[in-house]
Amino acid sequence: MSEKRFRERLAQLIASPSVSCTSPALDMSNRAVIDLLASWLEALGFNIEIMALEGGKANLIATLGQGTGGLVLAGHTDTVPCNPERWQQDPFELIEKNQRFYGLGATDMKGFFPVVLAALDALKLDAAKLQQPVIILATADEESSMNGARALAKAGKPKARFAVIGEPTGMRPIRMHKGIMMNAVRIQGLAGHSSNPQLGHNALETMHAVLGELLRYRQDLLQHSNPGFEVSTPTLNLGYIHGGDNPNRICGHCELHFDLRPLPGMDIEQLHQDISQRLLPLGEANNTPIQIERLIGGIEAFEQAADSELVQTAEKLTGQQSASVAFATEAPFLQQMGMQTVVMGPGSIDQAHQPNEFMALSEIKPAIHTIKSLITEFCLRC
Ligand SMILES: [Zn+2]
Repeated sequence: MSEKRFRERLAQLIASPSVSCTSPALDMSNRAVIDLLASWLEALGFNIEIMALEGGKANLIATLGQGTGGLVLAGHTDTVPCNPERWQQDPFELIEKNQRFYGLGATDMKGFFPVVLAALDALKLDAAKLQQPVIILATADEESSMNGARALAKAGKPKARFAVIGEPTGMRPIRMHKGIMMNAVRIQGLAGHSSNPQLGHNALETMHAVLGELLRYRQDLLQHSNPGFEVSTPTLNLGYIHGGDNPNRICGHCELHFDLRPLPGMDIEQLHQDISQRLLPLGEANNTPIQIERLIGGIEAFEQAADSELVQTAEKLTGQQSASVAFATEAPFLQQMGMQTVVMGPGSIDQAHQPNEFMALSEIKPAIHTIKSLITEFCLRC
């Protein structure tokens, strides 16, 4: 590997801010990162497709070779926002020290792309040599709405037999994670003077019933369990509540936010229906209509079978047993398109979303080696 070239590529990616955030004030385009990757991959002979998205954002699908099989190597181009005052350096400048590369996105996950490029350089691929295509996929908005992955799933591309998402897992193959739903429950009451309960409809009292019902529902969800997860059951967390304004007024409005993390096999649409069926009648009973709103698009749980070819190959190549993680990824969207999918990349999630994010230099060479082996296995040999 040319260490100089690796470093230059990573430095350029880190120097191209691409924060994605649900707060519009912090949200940025990822286009500079997409254009850098497109130029490097085009120089390697890849066919470049840029899928434009709202807000000046884009996905990149870069393809070398042809065929219905092949391998997608996928990563997101955006980062979370950062607090520069809590960093020891400029987050947008690559600094090498203590045998580490520091910078925003160094590990989550701009660092994965130079790893892939180094593997491609080393293999000196050309389309004629490939039995099946190598596809490099770079997405937008993974850290916020997952709109990049949603757009790909909707368009039904890219298509391949296998997909590896290079999120930081210390190159351990990850074949399961939970899903995420976040909901708001809004209860519309009618305010009035507290001295006479007949003058209004108390939203807080309905909320009391809603909270009780949600905790019962949580109890019922415990019948689902999967020993492959550190927390083996689905979770439901009550995270935010606000209601009313004064002790001497009947509470006119109350709002609750909660999240639910389903296990693989639990369908998000079904869960939404279950929740509505349980909560809506409570509002009707008290003359306080309830509205349930999805705060995010929702991410399905993900599971790739332990005995699938990709998991088996990834375990063999890395010498690491597959496992689950506690964060969600774009994996369910890629899997939905028919690809066997695992999450596996250099770096540690412990460094992600933190000030002074870094990638340990020691992780880079083994990762390049594994990516090379995957390409050889799935695109050159088959
Ligand atoms: Zn990530």
